[in-house]
Amino acid sequence: MQTFTIIFLVALLAHLGVQLWLSRRQMRFVASHRDAVPAGFSTAVSAEEHAKAADYTVARQKLGIIEILYDALVLLWLTLGGGIAWIGALAAKANGTPLVTGTLHVLGVLAALSLLSLPVSIYRTFVLEQRFGFNRTSPKVFVADLLKGWALGLLLGGLVVAGVLWIMASAGPRWWIVAWLAWLAFTLLITWAWPRVFAPLFNKFTPLEDQSLRARIDALLERCGFHTKSVFVMDGSKRSSHGNAYFTGLGREKRIVFFDTLLTTLTPPQVESVLAHELAHFRLKHIPQRLVVGALMSLAGFALLGWLSTQPWFYASLGVPDSSPAAALLLFVLVTPVFVWMVSPLMAAWSRRHEYEADAFAAEHADAESLAEALVRLYKDNASTLTPDPVHSAFYDSHPPPAARIERLRKLRHAPAHAAATR
Ligand SMILES: [Zn+2]
Repeated sequence: MQTFTIIFLVALLAHLGVQLWLSRRQMRFVASHRDAVPAGFSTAVSAEEHAKAADYTVARQKLGIIEILYDALVLLWLTLGGGIAWIGALAAKANGTPLVTGTLHVLGVLAALSLLSLPVSIYRTFVLEQRFGFNRTSPKVFVADLLKGWALGLLLGGLVVAGVLWIMASAGPRWWIVAWLAWLAFTLLITWAWPRVFAPLFNKFTPLEDQSLRARIDALLERCGFHTKSVFVMDGSKRSSHGNAYFTGLGREKRIVFFDTLLTTLTPPQVESVLAHELAHFRLKHIPQRLVVGALMSLAGFALLGWLSTQPWFYASLGVPDSSPAAALLLFVLVTPVFVWMVSPLMAAWSRRHEYEADAFAAEHADAESLAEALVRLYKDNASTLTPDPVHSAFYDSHPPPAARIERLRKLRHAPAHAAATR
């Protein structure tokens, strides 16, 4: 057996072990806190709602474990089991140019992954989410989403894959710098075009009509120095009763989007405070920082791919007998997550710091108590657990644990209010 095969298997097993261990911790911790609503939430969350959140969390973890094991089997089949090589042989039967064959090869593997993930996705939507009363996706919407997703994946994915393979074959030994620049340009283009061109394929966006809420939002935008005039409501209730709000797009295409489900459950001051939190991620430069870190990581990724693609052992040790740009790309995309997960706690910690900063910003420019109330309402409506396992949370969570977050907000409320005046 090749050395790298062993390294790959050890890393994969370590990843599985850590994931399963964390999942078990989370289930145990949540189940053991199922019957007592934590102090500070008892007025807003009933014992029944708290128990439901615990059951929902445990049910999702159980499905998660099946998914983790299933995905590992799929990965082993594609690599050591010869799946990538087999699909490559099928793609070669089309008798196209190397670029066509390579593109078919990569798209073929992506299609297989997509098909193989379908059972879990159907179960999640129509059994798990349904059981807890969150699912509003009809089979018709589900199939339509799937077909639109595949069409878009074929179009955009085909474009990217063909582009990268073409650069790999024709831009010389430093192709990875060219590919990285092209990737950056493509990412920016899609981010810019997403709200206007692609998102409407999946949801309906209507300008916010509520005039008093609109006036409140405009005043907040003014206070925070924002010039976006586009505030939209999205029909999130078409698929799920989970609520959310987000910012999307770049430059002049930037828009604020509220899920209709959020607007029906939150009061106007609560909506304002949630929006102030989202604005903070822009004002405090969290979004640009993430973009820069993402760009640097993708540069490192392309550099690594540039080197790996020239190493015969990389293919041979991962179940692909013949080297090709398509196989290099596939192996890289499938195998790096087996190693990169080790940095995910760092990224999660970084994100939690941003969340605290955004909360503080919202407390300054809107109302801390309203944000605390809104968050509690969202935890409750989404059946998010109020009592996550601390280790599981530190490892994965992009947002701070509810109790810590609410406690900080309540402290900010009692802090002297000079900040708002000086800003
Ligand atoms: Zn946030």
